[in-house]
Parts: sequence; C-alpha cells; structure tokens
Amino acid sequence: MENPNTVRDRVALAALKYGIAAISVALALLITQSLQPTVFPTPLFFAAIVISTWFGGIGTGLFAVLFATLLLDYYFVSPTRTFSIHPAALLYLAQFSLPALLSSWFVKKRKDAERALKEARDQLDVKVQQRTAELQSEIAERKRAEEAFHKTQADLAHLTRVMTMSELATSIAHEVNQPLAAIVTTGDACARWLALDPPNLGRARESVGRIITEGNRASEVVKRIRALSKKTTVQKSALHMNELIHEVIALMNVELAKNQVRLRTDLESELPLVYGDRVQLQQVILNLVVNAIEAMNEIRDRGRELVLRSEKVGPDRVQVSVRDCGCGLEASPVEHLFEAFFTTKPGGIGMGLSISRTIIESHGGRLWATSNPDHGATFHFALPIADGSDS
Ligand code: ADP
Repeated sequence: MENPNTVRDRVALAALKYGIAAISVALALLITQSLQPTVFPTPLFFAAIVISTWFGGIGTGLFAVLFATLLLDYYFVSPTRTFSIHPAALLYLAQFSLPALLSSWFVKKRKDAERALKEARDQLDVKVQQRTAELQSEIAERKRAEEAFHKTQADLAHLTRVMTMSELATSIAHEVNQPLAAIVTTGDACARWLALDPPNLGRARESVGRIITEGNRASEVVKRIRALSKKTTVQKSALHMNELIHEVIALMNVELAKNQVRLRTDLESELPLVYGDRVQLQQVILNLVVNAIEAMNEIRDRGRELVLRSEKVGPDRVQVSVRDCGCGLEASPVEHLFEAFFTTKPGGIGMGLSISRTIIESHGGRLWATSNPDHGATFHFALPIADGSDS
C-alpha cells in the first residue's frame, strides 16, 4: 500500500499544478476582458496554456486548453454569456483549441528534452567524478606498487649480494689466508735474520717491508668484502673497468678452480675510464661470472672456458663481455632472461640479471645477451665513458 504521506504530497502537487493552470487562464480572461475591444481574445489564453504545460506537464496543459476553450465560448463567442455550440462557434473554438493543443504538445516536448539534457549532464558529471576518483586511486595504487617494487629490489640486491658472499666464503678465506701465511713465514725469516751474529739488518728490513705489503693486501681484501656485503649508498666515481674485473677475478679464483673453469682474459690496455659505483658494477660482473660458471656446471664433453673481455667500442663506450661455453640460452628465451624472478635453476631466485640490468641502465648503459655460434652464451654490457676520459 502506498504511503499516505506520498499520496497526500501527490494530491497537493496536482492541486498546485491545476490551480496554477486555472489561475493563469482566469487571469488571461480578466486581462483580455479589461482590454476589450482593443486586443484579440486568444493570445493571452495561449500564454496561459504555455505556462500551465511548462509548470504542470501535459495533463495540466490539456486542462488549461479545455478551460480556456470553455471561457472563450462563454465570454467571447456570440451570443456571449452562454455556451454556443452552433457550427460557426465550433469552427472558431477549433481554430483556437487545435493550435493550443499543438503548442501544449511542443512545450511538453521542449520540457522533456531539457530534462533529458539535464539528466544526461548530471550523469556525465557523476561519471566524470567517479572516473576521476578511480584514476586518483589507480595513480596512488601504482605509486605504492612502484615504491614497494623499488624497496623489494633494493632488499633483493642486498640479499643476492649477501648470498653470493656466503658462496664465496671459501674464496675469501683463501684470499685472506695467503697474505697471512706470507706474513708468518716472512716474520719467521725476519726473526732468523735478526738472530744471526751479527744480525743481517738489510735482509731483516726487506722482510719487514714484505710483511707490511702482505698486511696491506690482506686489509684490502677485507675492505673489498665489507664493501660488497654492506648496504652502501651509491657512490659514483671515475673507474678503471679492468681494475674492477681483476678484483672480481680475485674473489672468484677459488670458485673457478673448484668448478674446473679455465679463465681467459682479453682486456684492452688503454681503456678509457667509466663513471659509476664501484660496488654496484662489481656486483654486475660477479653476477655474470657466477651465472657463467653455473651454466657450465653440466658440461662434461668439452673444456669449461670463461672469457672476460673489455674493449672500447664506438667513440664513447666501454664494453665488457662475459663469454661461457655452457648450456646456452635455449631454455631461457632472451625476452624473459632479464625479468625479475625468471629462473631455470632449481634453487634460483631469478633476480641477478634483473638487478644487473637495473644497475647498468641507471649508469646510462645497456646489458644484453647473445648466443654463441658454437656453444654457450655471452653477456655484454656497455657503459658511457667518463667525461674527459678518452685515453
Ligand atoms: P638465477 O641465477 O637466480 O636463476 P638470474 O637472473 O641471474 O637468476 O638468471 C636468470 C636465468 O637466466 C637463469 O636461471 C638462467 O636460465 C639464465 N641464464 C643466466 N645466465 C646464463 C648463462 N650464462 N647461460 C645460460 N643461461 C643463463
């Protein structure tokens, strides 16, 4: 059942609409009568019908047409003050009521069109607001995702570095052990030179010199390890690429020997400097070397050879290539190789190449891979040479 309040509201609204129609037609009658005989009787009635239809709709408009026709008949068609229904009167009234009906219909159509337009505009407004809100939340979401991605990438860069470090523990022990052993033997020798009678001070001085050199070597190794394992901020400087390669080789020597990999270097001697972060670029070379060793793990029918090459290419680039003769890129399509979490290794994380590419690109360079004509793959990266370094 309909709510009584709603029914009451409807009745009130209808009364208001029909009231406006009746009043406007009555006003039209009064004004027209008062201006007689100077004005035509019909125009003000038309106006009253237009007003009634505009405010009340088609029902009210029809009511106004009917009411106006009756009033016209009663007050203006002779004989006046009576309802005439003879043919001439009917023709006169039809001349008024038909155009009046048409006007009412036009007014209704016009009103409908305006309402539809307003609704469409309102809907559009709502849609625009909704879409704007959606876009804003999409942008915020994307920003959050990007931030999370960068954080994860930074964390993973740190993680892979630390993991590579643990793999390299043996290598480090070896690296530090060598100078320490040299220090001990040279110290022994020094003690013997001093114990002679008379003491051989010249040889003892030489021994002390060697001890200092070896001590510095050990401390350099430790410093390198610490730099690699620490989450340091990026520190760019002009770098000798060959020096970086040598440092990585020093770290990887034991690993190479353990995996029976023969290393060959082909480093251009007069290489221009590059501008970059030492630790990050070392991490890239290290990743490529570790990957190359792993790619050759299963190779039994040929020698495992790794070639590290550096060269100047074009007018302004230094290029480094890491070439192996391992399993090649058949199982790893080039378009996926550098994607985060792409791995074909059982225990792999698939972040090494993705991080390496990010690092190289943040240095204004390019990292890519090619298949070798015979066996294995070569990973290359090219970096711009440092400003003012072209020798
Ligand atoms: P992970 O070593 O953890 O798998 P990477 O991002 O370093 O992650 O490598 C991604 C994948 O790229 C490897 O799983 C391997 O399939 C392929 N790949 C990388 N280096 C080589 C290479 N030298 N030879 C063949 N495939 C390689």
